[in-house]
Amino acid sequence: MRIRKQESMKNHTTFRTGGPADTFAEPEDLDELRELISVCAGSGTPYVVIGCGSNLLVSDEGFRGTVICLGPSFGKIRIDGDFLEAEAGARLGAAAGAAQEAGLAGLEFASGIPGSVGGALVMNAGAYGSEVKDVLLEAEVLEMDGTPCRLHAEALELGYRTSNITGLGRIVLGARFHLRKGDPSEIEARMRDLSLRRKEKQPLEYPSAGSTFKRPEGHFAGKLIEDAGLKGFCIGGAQVSEKHAGFIINRGNATSEDIRRLILEVQRRVKESSGVTLEPEVRFLGNFV
Ligand SMILES: Cc1cc2nc3c(=O)[nH]c(=O)nc-3n(C[C@H](O)[C@H](O)[C@H](O)COP(=O)(O)OP(=O)(O)OC[C@H]3O[C@@H](n4cnc5c(N)ncnc54)[C@H](O)[C@@H]3O)c2cc1C
Repeated sequence: MRIRKQESMKNHTTFRTGGPADTFAEPEDLDELRELISVCAGSGTPYVVIGCGSNLLVSDEGFRGTVICLGPSFGKIRIDGDFLEAEAGARLGAAAGAAQEAGLAGLEFASGIPGSVGGALVMNAGAYGSEVKDVLLEAEVLEMDGTPCRLHAEALELGYRTSNITGLGRIVLGARFHLRKGDPSEIEARMRDLSLRRKEKQPLEYPSAGSTFKRPEGHFAGKLIEDAGLKGFCIGGAQVSEKHAGFIINRGNATSEDIRRLILEVQRRVKESSGVTLEPEVRFLGNFV
């Protein structure tokens, strides 16, 4: 297994910020993953499992413990009738592409989300009116005590950008999606349309973690932020995107602290102007003062 010491998390987050992880490990298979976890547990070393780091803000001090990245070694995708099985490290885009080629509809929404299958289950990722919950049948997880287990989707308590996975110390190993037959060229056309809509609306040319905040009930975060006069507002190298105020972007030299301070300032000003409390969708890792 590949193990790196003092590995900068800038290389593993789409915000391109964050300090070093004491240890950054990429297990090659389930046995290595289980061994790694048992070593961490035995030595009292904190650990966290990540996928593509596309929803993570890692502290500038980094993470005092082991970051376990499930990457290409956990990337297999298999079609079985109307089902698609994907390992946790598979990219959502690859899973959506495989479904399209097999003439299976239902994963089009996921094609432009730059995360892994594991991260998508944790976040119940979704876009354009669909989410993981709509198509997930079962998940294979490693329970906190190291036991592999197959769970029905309901057992994950998937909600709006939430699940019970990390709270219960579970690790996602894979997922089985139930899709429906469709015409490959129509599925491809839907994926292309969604991709165009993303390019048009989202600041994809800058590092970010997608929508910074969850959508508050009855509102749109971007609109509230824009109405608070914050479009383009900067703290250090972090900026509320001029293209889509729901995105905080790294203008090139942002620190995680810049981003975190901007998140707090946006929350404060939106609360002041609209009375609405914005909750971050982005997850924080490491110590923030
Ligand atoms: C440009 C852009 C656009 C985006 N658009 C969308 C969108 O339309 N919809 C949407 O929902 N999100 C969107 N996102 C956010 C992000 O891509 C999703 O939340 C994605 O599901 C995160 O997957 P990941 O593999 O990157 O997870 P990470 O960021 O690596 O991790 C996220 C969380 O999941 C945990 N985790 C990851 N893998 C595992 C695992 N195998 N087992 C246990 N825990 C795990 C991590 O510890 C962390 O708590 C966007 C991000 C960007 C940068």
